[in-house]
Amino acid sequence: MKFNDSIQYVKGIGEKRARLFNKLDIFNVSDLLNYYPRDYEDRSQIKDIDDLIDGETVCIKGTVAQLKRTFKAKNGAKITQAVVSDGKSLITVTWFNSPFVENTLSKGGEFTFFGKVQYKGMFPEMVNPVIDRNNAGKTGKIVPVYPLTANLTQQNLRNAVEFAMNNLEEEFVEILPPEILKKFGLISIGEAISQIHFPKDFESFIKARKRLVFQELFIMQMGIFLLKNTKNNYPAEGFSDIHSVRDFVSGLPYELTNAQKKVINEILNDLKKDVPMNRLVQGDVGSGKTVVAAAAMFSAVKSGFQAAFMAPTEILAKQHYENLVKLFEPWGMTVACLTGGPKTKGKAETLKRIASGEIDIVVGTHALIGDDVQFKNLGLAVTDEQHRFGVRQRASLNEKGKKAHTLVMTATPIPRTLSLILYGDLDVSVIDELPPGRQPIQTFAVGENYRPRIFDFIKKNIQKGRQAYIVCPLVEESDLLSAKSVIEYAENVSKKELKGFSVDVLYGSMKQKEKDAVMERFKAGEIQVLISTTVIEVGVDVPNASVMVIENAERFGLSQLHQLRGRIGRGPFESFCVLVCTTNGEIARERMKVMCDTNDGFVISEKDLKLRGPGEFFGVRQHGLPELKIADLAGDIDIMSLAQSAAKEIISADANLSMPQNRPLRNHLINKFNDVGGKNILN
Ligand code: ADP
Ligand code: MG
Repeated sequence: MKFNDSIQYVKGIGEKRARLFNKLDIFNVSDLLNYYPRDYEDRSQIKDIDDLIDGETVCIKGTVAQLKRTFKAKNGAKITQAVVSDGKSLITVTWFNSPFVENTLSKGGEFTFFGKVQYKGMFPEMVNPVIDRNNAGKTGKIVPVYPLTANLTQQNLRNAVEFAMNNLEEEFVEILPPEILKKFGLISIGEAISQIHFPKDFESFIKARKRLVFQELFIMQMGIFLLKNTKNNYPAEGFSDIHSVRDFVSGLPYELTNAQKKVINEILNDLKKDVPMNRLVQGDVGSGKTVVAAAAMFSAVKSGFQAAFMAPTEILAKQHYENLVKLFEPWGMTVACLTGGPKTKGKAETLKRIASGEIDIVVGTHALIGDDVQFKNLGLAVTDEQHRFGVRQRASLNEKGKKAHTLVMTATPIPRTLSLILYGDLDVSVIDELPPGRQPIQTFAVGENYRPRIFDFIKKNIQKGRQAYIVCPLVEESDLLSAKSVIEYAENVSKKELKGFSVDVLYGSMKQKEKDAVMERFKAGEIQVLISTTVIEVGVDVPNASVMVIENAERFGLSQLHQLRGRIGRGPFESFCVLVCTTNGEIARERMKVMCDTNDGFVISEKDLKLRGPGEFFGVRQHGLPELKIADLAGDIDIMSLAQSAAKEIISADANLSMPQNRPLRNHLINKFNDVGGKNILN
């Protein structure tokens, strides 16, 4: 059996079952062996019946003292019962709807049972336990529990993994160099994979897991460091005019916060150097990141360069464009906006003016990284709401300038572990202060029965002159269905609850012109209630909007709710966010409570990570980084820092991984990071 063999070569897997395995992304033997258990059952210890504790799941061993034929209970369930003795005490063992166990059991026969113990008064009972006859291998060990898909059983997976493991004719490739294994006390990869599936004991499991978590995080770190190294591998040109940023700042209609000033200084400090800046500005929604980026762009233009500012959506690009025009035109700087769509005359003209250097500052969507966009002299590339873009897109904007500095901004505060991974290639500045006068948003979580009251509340606020958002969730990630749900919602409420008020809709698949028009009218106050999908999630700035209702709030991630909520509370008005939940589960309730209790984005993102796990964490998937199979970002901080120091060590000794002991690692990385330029990274 070879790693590349299709799983159909594994005993017990035919064509039909292979398709079920495929659903789990298992196609060949290597995939199968790298499909790790999600949990384990400890069937290794056999307990005396006298020592059983209510509620525990254990093994007992004994002889069948009595066997009751299967009978039908009043509710129709088929019940099979036995009384088992371990020589000292008795336990009742019951099966529901499994009459075939009668064929396995026999009076006087000895069996091992594994199951959950329940006390009925003084007497212990086990319900639906696993039966092991003649030590057939179902007990007496630690048994893996795998994530499954419909029609596939634990036993199917266990058998397949065991068969593949026992018949393997190839060695596992050790990609960690021997010094690293030794230094960090790691077991070999072959041992680790064998023990992660069928651990001898708890200690072996811990060792196996540590090795695999380490490897996973280490590889990720290596990828990030290599990316960073290539980025810093070219000379940048330091900006000559840093000082006139002071004039720009004093011309602003407001005083910058201390946090904004601090971050601008950090940026300017980078920009004057001949080393490319790679800086991330992290600041909660409304902390004023745009003006910080504007200050850096001002310095670029004053120093004779162009600057680019990339936003994730057209609405946002448009809005930034309008703001930046106001900020820069008084200084005689030219600003252009570039978004997707057909190549019109106007667009061609804009491209020409960018290429000739006539335009100083270009704002746009990812259209900015299109092949048709040529800059004369790009000195600074800014990416707004960075979490919306992949690593690759971020790199491409920066590549538009041979010597460009990079600034990325994100409003999604992320936990420290995650930021090490996602932004390990960046220096980080934090805007940890909101402009003065912001009112905390009051958040309430309610059930659907509150709807009449919610509409009364919206109306009351409109009568005070305010505006409101109602957010409907994306329907199964489908633009079409989401649009439909928004439109239907709007039709219903304009006929009933919000009759007589001005209501309009906004969703992703609308034409750009229509979107712009709606946003214009909302900004101008002509639309009183805007019903939309999450397209309004990032950046939209309408200070007069003070109420947000989020329907099906339980369907959103906490960070996303926080981001959405950041659309209100942007002006001097008291603001309210109402989360409408249609379920009342424990986790949903806990998550809503977090939203009601705090306005602090960092606290929220930590909780989000804990409650949902990193795989689901907002944005992780879009980062272009491989998903983690075994490491737990919330729990493996310690291994994370070990892996990081190992990665640093290797790179500082052998930046290009050309030493013989680093060969397997090198090959692995080139494969793994192929789609983010793995080859280039190591050449
Ligand atoms: P975000 O960090 O979410 O991108 P923005 O840059 O959109 O925030 O800023 C939010 C609002 O706050 C904007 O209307 C902006 O003009 C305003 N603003 C930014 N800095 C300050 C400040 N220091 N004082 C008052 N208002 C500010
Ligand atoms: Mg912003």
